[in-house]
Amino acid sequence: GAKRSGRGRILRFDPAMEEELHGRLSLVSRLAEAQANGQFSLVYQPQIALSDGTPFGSEALLRWQLPEGTWVRPDQFIPVAEDAGHILSLGEWVLRQACLHQVHWRDSAVGRLRMAVNVSVRQLRDGSFVHSAERILSSCNADPRDIELEITESHAMENDQVLATVRTLRGMGFSIAIDDFGTGYSSLSRLQQLPASVLKIDRSFVTDLGTVPESRSIAATIVKVGHELGMTVLAEGIETAEQEEILRSLGCDAAQGYLYAKPMPAPQFERWILDNMPARLPAAVS
Ligand code: C2E
Ligand code: MG
Ligand code: MG
Ligand code: MG
Repeated sequence: GAKRSGRGRILRFDPAMEEELHGRLSLVSRLAEAQANGQFSLVYQPQIALSDGTPFGSEALLRWQLPEGTWVRPDQFIPVAEDAGHILSLGEWVLRQACLHQVHWRDSAVGRLRMAVNVSVRQLRDGSFVHSAERILSSCNADPRDIELEITESHAMENDQVLATVRTLRGMGFSIAIDDFGTGYSSLSRLQQLPASVLKIDRSFVTDLGTVPESRSIAATIVKVGHELGMTVLAEGIETAEQEEILRSLGCDAAQGYLYAKPMPAPQFERWILDNMPARLPAAVS
């Protein structure tokens, strides 16, 4: 879009730029058929409590495989889908799939887990999102308290209309998480206005925890701010035991990252949960 400074604006002939533009155009045309042809799927990454390692939820992440077998990364196709308006129907599909799986697990041996779903600001700006979310909840028989909508920090702060929509969703019972926190420019007063219950520390700070002293201070500040505002703080992208230990010592509540598990297709995720559930206490013998 025109609002994205620089992107798609060709100043002079540059083969790399032209190739990127060509790639985007061909992705746009392929996006249209991808949903109808079942090329999208969801993978699930466990979220665990830092106090005792218990898994309590998962984040649903979108995957796209082209018919020739190539995987396209979300960082490549989500912005394209947003520009092309395709994110509206794709986002509905994601929410429905995620709700279906949450309910399926809730009613199976896996048990009740919270399901986090990424929502694009394009969906929040669209007048029909609240209604389609309502329809999806009731047709899946999902409890909105089990569904967490993740909104990127920069977008959550966008404007009053987006804020009003987030409040409506919260009023419907959805849990709200602020994603990629620390990378945007939120004022604390704005943050306080958001009815969010989870603050996700962006992976960039977690990655640098052991090496860049400032990252530790930033993470510590985010934990304090989140707790001050009554939120649970979750660190994303934990890859090492050292990062985990630092975050635990800072009082961070929850974590997600390759240290525990990569995002997995539903059957592997189910097995992972069953293998990593806290051992049940043996029934009392009388
Ligand atoms: P995000 O919501 O911040 O998701 C976290 C990303 O970090 C995911 O990348 C996940 O696979 C990755 N990740 C998790 N743990 C680790 C780790 O320990 N190390 C490393 N290196 N990476 C880790 P993914 O799946 O490629 O998604 C990228 C972004 O695309 C997401 O960032 C989100 O903004 C967007 N996205 C993904 N699925 C959806 C969706 O269904 N709808 C929308 N609107 N956006 C989505
Ligand atoms: Mg996310
Ligand atoms: Mg994130
Ligand atoms: Mg992200």
